[in-house]
Parts: sequence; C-alpha cells; structure tokens
Amino acid sequence: MPEVSRVIGNEEKLRAETYGVHDHARVSVSDIMQARETAPHLIEGFSERTRAYVQVQNGCDHRCTFCIIPYGRGPARSAPAGEVVAQIQKLVAGGAPEVVLTGVDLTSWGQDLPGAPKLGNLVARILKLTPDLKMLRLSSIDAIEIDDQLFDLITQHERLAPHLHLSLQHGDDLILKRMKRRHLRADAVALCERLKAARPEIALGADLIAGFPTESDEAFGNLVSLIKDCQLSYVHAFPFSPREGTPAARMPQLDRALIKARAARLREAGASALTQHLNRWIAEKAMR
Ligand code: SF4
Repeated sequence: MPEVSRVIGNEEKLRAETYGVHDHARVSVSDIMQARETAPHLIEGFSERTRAYVQVQNGCDHRCTFCIIPYGRGPARSAPAGEVVAQIQKLVAGGAPEVVLTGVDLTSWGQDLPGAPKLGNLVARILKLTPDLKMLRLSSIDAIEIDDQLFDLITQHERLAPHLHLSLQHGDDLILKRMKRRHLRADAVALCERLKAARPEIALGADLIAGFPTESDEAFGNLVSLIKDCQLSYVHAFPFSPREGTPAARMPQLDRALIKARAARLREAGASALTQHLNRWIAEKAMR
C-alpha cells in the first residue's frame, strides 16, 4: 500500500526509540509470541479527567475459536503488584478519584509472576495501600476465573465499584464449547445469582456474540434468555464476523443477513434490560 509509510508492531509502538530520527526501518514488527515484557507503560489513559486506566496485564494464553487477539497481543504477562501500586499512588496523589484496572485477559493477572498470585490478591493490596483512592473498578473479566478473594472483595468492599463486565459471549452450551470458552451457561447464571445475592446493587454487563457458526434458533434463544437469567443490566452485542486464521472462520457460517438480524434482536433485548435497570434505580431513589 503506497500510502503506508511505516508499519510498527504492538511491542514496538510502545518504545520511544521506535520513533527516533535514526530509525528508518519501514517495517518494525517483532514476533509478538516472544514478548515477555510486562505492561511497559502502566497508564493507559484518562477519560473525563476523573478515571485513570491502568493496564496491569497484556496478552492472552487462551484460544477462543473466534478470537484473533492472542496473535496480535502475544502471551499473557503481568505487571508486578509493587509497580501497579506505585503507579496508582502517583495517580491518586495527582488527583485521580477513580482507577480502572485493564488487561487483555485481566483475570489471568499474576500467573507469570513469582508465587502466581491471583487478581484478588492485587486488588486487596491496591485497596489497602491506597486508602485515598475513592473508587477502584475492574474492566472486562472472565467470569469463570474470579477467585474467592476477588469475589469477597467485589461483594463486600465499598471502594470496589459494584460493577462487573463479564466476558460471557454466549448462553448455549454447545456454542460455548465450539467457541472453546471455559464455562457453561449454568456457571454464568450461578455466578451472577451469587453476585446479586451478595451485593444486590451490583450492575452486571456482558459481551455477547450473535450468529456464531452453527447457531440454531434454539441456541440463539438461549443467548437472548441469558440476559434475563443472568440479570444483566447492559449488553455489548456483537454480530459474529470471521477472523482469518481462526478455527471459527472455517466452521459453517450463517447467512450475513441472519447474523445482522440476530445481533439487532440481541441489542434490543440489551436495551430493554438497561431501561429496566435504570427504572429500578429511579424508583428506588423516589422512595428514599
Ligand atoms: S476472547 Fe478473550 S480469553 Fe478468548 S482468546 Fe480472545 S482475548 Fe483470550
């Protein structure tokens, strides 16, 4: 493509020297599968001047059949807890009231660190060592990988936001298996019930994919009904689209028009769940 002057890889784009005047390599892309460095720049960005995003993990060792991310981001790697805490302390000293922990596969944080600590351990340390941080929030997490300490913190610690965005993807067991996800529908429903029972105000959101290869009407019904059964407050609904090189791209595909129609129905169901969630809050506020 003549209009492209340089191609820079995911690792290289984070290094200052890549942009140096002496570096004229037209293609600077190393093998991402060899990447071992932990998140080299912890702050991912700010939004609205109140939330700071801190990237504590990068890469993914899973191989969900629809996903191309591991081939672009490389293996799972974590930033050491000490560095994360120091970074958050700096942000709090700079006036950030809220910090969001992010990562490609956030719940795998720690597996490559000495002693393989779990994400719950990191969250506990942050809350303990940054008492002036008003709110800590987690970005998208894998439902099945929530450890016991993390569950207790989410349901009991008032400075941990009562909000989880779950990577659920589907509500039908056969499709979940074909996606190579590590949970079944019943696991997702049971987790959401436990979370809601322990912290009723918690808002649960989820990523869901409509139109995965071989998805029958019945399987799609199981996807839509997951919103109600998991008491989701909002949904990020995606139409399935094949990514070259992934196993799902080689499975029998559904018609594009059907995928679009199903994604639209899923989005509608999500919008209705959000309306119900907001109406509940309005009603509760009115009663106070
Ligand atoms: S969907 Fe998430 S867990 Fe699965 S391979 Fe992609 S990044 Fe990893």
